[in-house]
Amino acid sequence: RSLIGIKKISEESVLAEDMGSRIMVFVRLRPLGKKEEESGARSCVRIDNKKDVYLTEYALEKDYLRLKRVRGRHFCFDASFPESTSQQEVYSTTTAELVEGVLQGRNGTVFCYGATGAGKTYTMLGTLDNPGVMVLAIKDLFSKIRQRSYDGNHSVLLSYLEVYNETVRDLLSPGRPLVLREDKQGIVAAGLTQYRAYSTDEVMQLLQQGNRNRTTEPTRMNETSSRSHAILQVVAQYQARDLDSVGTRVGKLSLIDLAGSERALATEQRTQRSIEGANINRSLLALSSCINALVEGKRHIPYRNSKLTQLLKDSLGGACNTVMVANISPSSLSFNETQNTLHWADRAKEMRNKASDANEEASHAPESETDQTKLLLELQMEN
Ligand code: ADP
Ligand code: MG
Repeated sequence: RSLIGIKKISEESVLAEDMGSRIMVFVRLRPLGKKEEESGARSCVRIDNKKDVYLTEYALEKDYLRLKRVRGRHFCFDASFPESTSQQEVYSTTTAELVEGVLQGRNGTVFCYGATGAGKTYTMLGTLDNPGVMVLAIKDLFSKIRQRSYDGNHSVLLSYLEVYNETVRDLLSPGRPLVLREDKQGIVAAGLTQYRAYSTDEVMQLLQQGNRNRTTEPTRMNETSSRSHAILQVVAQYQARDLDSVGTRVGKLSLIDLAGSERALATEQRTQRSIEGANINRSLLALSSCINALVEGKRHIPYRNSKLTQLLKDSLGGACNTVMVANISPSSLSFNETQNTLHWADRAKEMRNKASDANEEASHAPESETDQTKLLLELQMEN
């Protein structure tokens, strides 16, 4: 029996290697805004060869009138997108392969990480004229399904949810908070709307409406709270016509517009009193802890520490494809945030999903907060 076990694991690992199951990390630089330029900001980021990112730190000269270059740092990612990169190119490079995987029954996750204003929502949702990854992925999924519709029935189910202040809400049908339950398929949000989509046209409207349902800051009613995570789950089901053949196959793609990363550290640094601040940290910090554990090849991944990581349990690590897009602003006024984001992305780059390890998460003991605290301290030291 053990021999078979070993064989199975090594086959899985080979397969995982072949399919490139390590996390892919991309950086997207947004253009410098007019207002930023007017307020004296200059660009402190340069991207070369679609891979290399050069970050330059500037400081005011003694006369307070000019900026001088203090030092530079270099990073390298799977791909880095300069300001001029189109939405379609970002989609094709980062996510198209995952959409193919979902049709084969493999789960995948794409998340946008970065400070508020760095371009996460633009990358994920985009605008009517320039739709982002969420819409382009669904469009591509429909076109791939059309090409293969002869061999069976496909259906596409969409759910759009928000994690805000450790509360999960349905963005397609706003109402009471949803409860997370563990069942045979994994962790599910009880009562979550699954919208059966038939065409791309209806999807953009659906998602824009969903985005309007995201929690807003009480002080700025029209702006989405930077503490809210939005998760689009795209489930592709396939049912063979001939019941004797492959049967059914299900793949899930999670596309995530994460909360702004700037507060993850700033609020926690002050006090534990701000419950809201602490809670937003909880999901982002827990995600960091999970990625850290995966980077270090730990057997136990602390998914249970937050709502976000519980929801991602079947989609992060293991035989899943994971893509991270780190969004950055070029503005010299956002230097610290950009530097933090690039550090985080650099660390995530080291993660290799180990199919054999992650599939046998043995321990169900409640996780201690120690790992999270340690990580937080490390991050604070860096600042
Ligand atoms: P975030 O969601 O990270 O807070 P947004 O996506 O809302 O940031 O972007 C902030 C502003 O910058 C928005 O006005 C958005 O339209 C603009 N923007 C972001 N990325 C790009 C881009 N690649 N090209 C053009 N405009 C962009
Ligand atoms: Mg946003």
